[in-house]
Amino acid sequence: MKTKIIATLGPSLRSVDLVKKLIREGVSGFRINFSHGDKAEWDEFVKLVKEASSELEQPVALIGDLRGPQIRIGFLSEEPVKIEQDKVLKFVLGEKSDRGEIPVKTRGVFEVVEVGDVILVGDGECVLRVVETGDDYFLARALYDGVVRSGKKIVVKGKEPNIPLLDSEDVSSIKYAVERGFTFIGVSYVRSGRDISIVRNLISEAKGSTGVIAKIETPTAYRNLKEIVKASDMILTARGDLGLHFDLDKLPRIQKDITMTSISYGKPVIVATQLLESMVNQPRPNRSEVVDVYNAVHDMVDSIMLADETAVGKYPLEAVRWLKKIIESAEADIKPEHTKVVRGSLEGNSLKDKYVYGLLSLAESVEGKILVFSKTGSVPPLIARLRPRVDVVVGTPSRELAERLVLYYGLRVYDMSKRVQGDVSYDQGIVELEKLAREKNELSIGDIVVESFAKPAGEMHEIIIKRMLA
Ligand code: PGA
Ligand code: MN
Repeated sequence: MKTKIIATLGPSLRSVDLVKKLIREGVSGFRINFSHGDKAEWDEFVKLVKEASSELEQPVALIGDLRGPQIRIGFLSEEPVKIEQDKVLKFVLGEKSDRGEIPVKTRGVFEVVEVGDVILVGDGECVLRVVETGDDYFLARALYDGVVRSGKKIVVKGKEPNIPLLDSEDVSSIKYAVERGFTFIGVSYVRSGRDISIVRNLISEAKGSTGVIAKIETPTAYRNLKEIVKASDMILTARGDLGLHFDLDKLPRIQKDITMTSISYGKPVIVATQLLESMVNQPRPNRSEVVDVYNAVHDMVDSIMLADETAVGKYPLEAVRWLKKIIESAEADIKPEHTKVVRGSLEGNSLKDKYVYGLLSLAESVEGKILVFSKTGSVPPLIARLRPRVDVVVGTPSRELAERLVLYYGLRVYDMSKRVQGDVSYDQGIVELEKLAREKNELSIGDIVVESFAKPAGEMHEIIIKRMLA
């Protein structure tokens, strides 16, 4: 698979054996959603992933997903509250409430809400239209029958109350992620490039180098897409929240736009939410889900992320197997002309870009495999963004770097930290990588191999092309 799979951890993934099975089936990254559970629970998940990854000697990315500034319903003394169509509900500022009022503790909501606005509760389990507003309350009429529960998210469609990106818990989650050696931190409800810098600063204060994933979930983020893409290490199309803020028929366009903008700037892009949602309860996906995944792969996203399917679903392993099957079918259908179109839209034309383009063209024209030995990680992402049609085997003496690269399109990444020191020469590194690639059956006799590695400071990279004779 060139397209990578990310699985969300949760109650359905509680054993090392299962996590190992998922990795063997092709999962390259795991997400812990900091919106749920606590540090003790997250620690268990971290342990599972680290154990599985080291037993299988396979680098795996670990993503900690910040809760971010969500607006939630407070505590309802009796729940669920069933709402009939046309019923008028009173939302009030506060932590809890009885008398059938709905408490919301974020003051900002009451500041932005206007008569005529649409309010969505949860994933749309209740949809209402605002009919009256006051300083610390508003009334809204249910558009359909629905249900409201404690703690559910609420969204004022198209509006984003001005609340800080991070609260003290998010800040503490960032420190936690850095301390535990997470590969990436997912920034929920990011609004601008500046938001990304805020998170980066906290990461450096904690003396970490954790990567930053920008989750595009709101109209503001979508408006500032380019600036956010440039500022981040990776992008995630958060279809769940986007689908609350935008009319659903706009989602396909938005997803394609986020995909192309990310690829264009060389940032890996993840598509997330409801990819195989029906598999939470059934062992086979729906037709429409299969087509959705196929299309995302055909658009050449880097990674596809499962959420509830693996976190709370009944069939986590089956979901991964199906995802893999669809990915393989879709990748087999990607024509060279299509790859060419994607490459034609890329930004950036540095000397290194050109070098990588040449390297890839050479390998593709001889149908060879690329071996890249990388210490700083500058070349592999440049290859990935060209959506290579040949196998690309990457080796690095840094475990952290290996874990960072696994989510990129088309890279088969090896952590060489047990074989070579960080200060190994590039010439020695590439020799070791070739050995490793043979051991792992990445190379067989008769293969043409195109090897790339840097030369010491000031000089260009070097390319060796050879046929494996023995
Ligand atoms: P979430 O983000 O899982 O943190 O809600 C994904 C989405 O909104 O699609
Ligand atoms: Mn979200």
